[in-house]
Amino acid sequence: MKRIAIIGGGISGLSSAFYLEKARAAGAELEYTLFESGQRLGGCMSSDRIEGCLVEAGPDSFLTEKPWAATLCGELGLADQLIGSNDAQRKTYIVVHDRLIAMPDGLMFMVPTRLVPTALSPLFSWSTKVLMARELLHPPRPMEDDETVAQMVERHFGPEVVDRLADPLLSGVYGGDAGKLSARAVLPRFVEMEEKYGSLSRAMLAAHKKMAQAAKKQPPRPLFTSLKDGMQQMVDAIVARLDPGAIRLRRHVRRIYPENGGWRVAIEMNGDERYDAVILATPANVAGELLDGVDRALASNLLDITYSSSVTVTLGYYKQQLSKLPRGFGFLVPRSEGTRMLACTFVHNKFPHRAPPDKGILRCFLGGARDEAVLGLSDEEMLETVHRELRDIVKLDARPIFARVYRWREAMAQYEPGHLARVEKIEKRVAEIPGLAIAGNAYHGIGVPDCIRSGMEAANAVAQLTPESQPARG
Ligand SMILES: Cc1cc2nc3c(=O)[nH]c(=O)nc-3n(C[C@H](O)[C@H](O)[C@H](O)COP(=O)(O)OP(=O)(O)OC[C@H]3O[C@@H](n4cnc5c(N)ncnc54)[C@H](O)[C@@H]3O)c2cc1C
Repeated sequence: MKRIAIIGGGISGLSSAFYLEKARAAGAELEYTLFESGQRLGGCMSSDRIEGCLVEAGPDSFLTEKPWAATLCGELGLADQLIGSNDAQRKTYIVVHDRLIAMPDGLMFMVPTRLVPTALSPLFSWSTKVLMARELLHPPRPMEDDETVAQMVERHFGPEVVDRLADPLLSGVYGGDAGKLSARAVLPRFVEMEEKYGSLSRAMLAAHKKMAQAAKKQPPRPLFTSLKDGMQQMVDAIVARLDPGAIRLRRHVRRIYPENGGWRVAIEMNGDERYDAVILATPANVAGELLDGVDRALASNLLDITYSSSVTVTLGYYKQQLSKLPRGFGFLVPRSEGTRMLACTFVHNKFPHRAPPDKGILRCFLGGARDEAVLGLSDEEMLETVHRELRDIVKLDARPIFARVYRWREAMAQYEPGHLARVEKIEKRVAEIPGLAIAGNAYHGIGVPDCIRSGMEAANAVAQLTPESQPARG
């Protein structure tokens, strides 16, 4: 019987446990134990019910085009619980000098694919519009070294597009800074497009045409998918499938040591246990510390992956208090505006069933790579900041009926230039060490579907399972 320890009970570790449990139920000779240092499972995936509203503390949905989360939900019997974002209301605004300006139609991520709405948009100055027109002539260019997203976007469209689009969009996804994130790791399609077409706009136009043809053949899918009762529903459904005796909460793993062809797992205040294999589903910097006595070079590569922290502040209102808000999913705030708020989602528009008809929910994001200090604010200071900034940006003076602050310390891995090469080194070394696998948001994608895929692949690797019906890496 192979004994496997999973360290970390966020969605990555839970996915490993689920796929090991599935293999065990199908007859694989294995047993697993999941160690989680906190009091609950799910890591930063957690939902609360307040005043009839569904409040997401961490992720609120996942990208529909990445299959692993929806596939897992299907396996958990939750297919009928999946809901799509209300894309009829999919408008996002950018704050420019305290005013909301809608992102022009046809903008795909930060690349214009429709000339007229971009040319007429007050979001960009005339000099940027001229750069955008000239970009259509950009020659193909192989990228030898990695560069930052800001460098790449600035080469194509100029600094204003970095400030007003690239930076705010990336701080929404990674809590990151376009000036520090790797173009190869974060925008691999842009790198390929530049190599093939030169111009990102021309490449996007070609991709857009293909997508429009494909869309004619199948009904449109929502951009984001979530669960009726929140992301916590996925956590609860996984936990319900696991052997309760295999879950150890409040067990902080301090170190792991190779021993007699297996592993000794040292648990703080709870002695050591022996396993044949270990899955490290913790943040990479924790995995680095755990492996320090095993392989210095591997540990140091893991420790080199940096993290940013973030804070979400969710505010509930009566609908009539929000009458001045425009339609849409919310707004992003460029750094140059000088606010602490990075973004705000109008949750009741994005997922209407998350609030009763008479209520609305605003979810504000703060922190990120350039503002770790925000974690030091008290809840009162945080709420004061958010109220002041909402008053300035959307003229919202009303006090909410409820407010919740969630702090996420070092939760978002930052894919800095050289990330892909570093991960390749890490994975090569991990594959050479028998009975060891890693999973989490630090390697091949930060979103929930990528974490699920990483947990599944780690389970397959340590149990030497052959993936049968599982979707291939995309
Ligand atoms: C505010 C926020 C919003 C987000 N929004 C979205 C979104 O809308 N869509 C999306 O797809 N993604 C989103 N993400 C990203 C996504 O949620 C995360 O990348 C993902 O949940 C990370 O899961 P994980 O299991 O890898 O890590 P974590 O959730 O960090 O879990 C790691 C676990 O390991 C435990 N642990 C650490 N050290 C030890 C130890 N030594 N011993 C035992 N246990 C240990 C921790 O307690 C923790 O529970 C968001 C993230 C945040 C923070």
